Amino acid sequence: MRSQRPRRSPRAMAVTFGLILALLSGLAVLGSWRQSALVRQLTADADKIDAYQEAIYLSQREMEMVQAVLNDPNGAERDELLTLHDRTRTSIERLAATVADEHRGPAEVIARREADLEPIIRTYIAQISRNDLDAAYDTLEEDIELNQDAIAANLRIIVTAESTEYQQARTAAENDSRTLLWGTVAIFLLGLAVLTLYGLSARAHRRQIDHLAATDTLTGLPNRAAFVAAVGAAQDRREESPTVVAVNLDGFRDVNDRFGHRVGDLLLIEAGRRIAASVREEDIVSRLGGDDFAILLADAVPGLDETLATRLHELFLTPFALGDVSVDLEVSIGSAVAQPEQDPSAVLVHADLALHDAKQNRSGFRRFDPAEIQGYAARLTMLGDLRRALEHGDQLALHYQPKYALGGTAMTGVEALARWTHPTRGAVSPNEFVPVLETTSLIHEFTYWALRTALRQAREWLDAGRPLPVSVNISTRTLLDPGFPDRVAGELVSAGVPGHLLCIEITEYTVMSDPDTAVRVLRRIRELGVKTSLDDYGTGYSSMAYLKTLPLDELKIDRAFVSDMIADPGSLALVESAVTLGHKLGLTVVAEGIEDVATADALTTIGCDIAQGYHYARPMPADEVTRLSAAPLVMDRGA
Ligand code: C2E
Ligand code: MG
Ligand code: MG
Repeated sequence: MRSQRPRRSPRAMAVTFGLILALLSGLAVLGSWRQSALVRQLTADADKIDAYQEAIYLSQREMEMVQAVLNDPNGAERDELLTLHDRTRTSIERLAATVADEHRGPAEVIARREADLEPIIRTYIAQISRNDLDAAYDTLEEDIELNQDAIAANLRIIVTAESTEYQQARTAAENDSRTLLWGTVAIFLLGLAVLTLYGLSARAHRRQIDHLAATDTLTGLPNRAAFVAAVGAAQDRREESPTVVAVNLDGFRDVNDRFGHRVGDLLLIEAGRRIAASVREEDIVSRLGGDDFAILLADAVPGLDETLATRLHELFLTPFALGDVSVDLEVSIGSAVAQPEQDPSAVLVHADLALHDAKQNRSGFRRFDPAEIQGYAARLTMLGDLRRALEHGDQLALHYQPKYALGGTAMTGVEALARWTHPTRGAVSPNEFVPVLETTSLIHEFTYWALRTALRQAREWLDAGRPLPVSVNISTRTLLDPGFPDRVAGELVSAGVPGHLLCIEITEYTVMSDPDTAVRVLRRIRELGVKTSLDDYGTGYSSMAYLKTLPLDELKIDRAFVSDMIADPGSLALVESAVTLGHKLGLTVVAEGIEDVATADALTTIGCDIAQGYHYARPMPADEVTRLSAAPLVMDRGA
């Protein structure tokens, strides 16, 4: 058994990938934050350097203006000098306040010196205003220039140092920024990789889920949904006559009931293998459910379905060895060719209809014929109706047809015959519905219902002081059902009917389909005191050899020969030989279908034992039989 399970749940996978992505995104955010801090720092530093450059510039301008005032005592510069000095002092004070700690001391000295310059400059201007140029010249040389030089020199030292540091910081920031950039790129690529991985693993997971959803877990074959899709795909590809072959295992349910589900499962797996081994590489085998399999023959050559059916029938001739159990199983096969625009499910339904037809006719294989669709559909509908009839029980009834000793007047027994009154169709013949029931295990339910009902009636007659043997028809499938003899014993006990008041009628087909089992079952049935009868004798192919070995009490000559034995010497010969043979084998011989006095007389002459037919009595409800059995038989000899 092949069974697969997803390795890891999609939820765990999503959570793992989600966590990795969140971590990567966190790293990226951290990088951007660091980058923006660097930029902020650099901008502030650059502003500071600009301010320092401005201080140097203003200080130089101040010195130049001091010179200019001396050169042109009446020029405009004299009035502007103090204003310029104020700006220079403010600029230097700001520098002193923002400069790095190690330069703060010298910067403060510069600022103090610049402040000290103010009274000197005022004196200088006053000297010039008085036109005392010599005094002014001295002031310039001794006070102003000395101070100015000191200020300029110190300023330059501080600014150069600060600029160098700024440059270094900038280079470091650039390096940092580059690292961060690569980091971000790496994180981006990693994220991309994670996403791709997630996508891939999600796809793989989905494929796994899809595969599981499309697979029958027991056999590992594609399931119904996958099969229908494959049929659709073959139609889309416009393949030549893609053919759907439906395969059903006959009697699988019996195996399941008899050996249990484990053996049933093993059987399905093995059957799947056999079917798969019988097709071409390009064909698809599916288990649709239960014991239903289907094959899609891609590009099928006409007739391939039938060839395959023959091969499958041969393959299933080999018994299945399942542990210590050996099981014989046959298959029923139906096929349908898919038309281009047809719904794939409809093709499957058609193949299935053909399969059921093959089962019903026991032909093994049937190809769907569109002209017969109504017939197929009607049978399927009937099956559904029968299922309901069996559930509710009021549509089904048993009628009883009396049997008489030929040449006498005594009612020797009755045959129970099923009657179905369909809610809309009215009376439906058992010849029509029993074969439909036989295509499914519903036949067991039906047979046991008939058996139970007939035995209850036998008990009623017994209680009324009229022990009347009842014959019940048993279908092939139920007779070969392993639980059948026990079930008969149980029903006899619960109805309180002695075995000799029951007779089971089986057909030649039942015996021929599995002679060994049939013989075994009939023996067990007779051990219960129950009588056995071979119905419809002459229509089948039972050989005399079999007849000899069968544990039988009665032979019922089919009405086809009885009804025309007067007109047809061939039928007469057959009836005669059947009576002789039956007697030689120690069997009671019954003729059914006697419709006239001539036939009855002829049969009496031949020495046939029991008569059944419209000439004596038709099948009738039980209470009519009760009435009839009380009165002596009055024959209409007028015919
Ligand atoms: P069968 O077991 O051979 O039953 C005899 C059939 O011949 C009955 O048909 C009966 O009504 C009919 N028949 C009897 N005498 C005459 C006659 O003189 N002339 C003509 N034309 N027919 C006569 P019926 O009741 O329609 O049943 C048909 C078949 O359906 C039965 O054939 C039997 O094979 C099957 N059947 C009926 N009831 C049951 C049942 O409870 N279980 C099973 N497994 N099969 C059943
Ligand atoms: Mg019968
Ligand atoms: Mg018969």
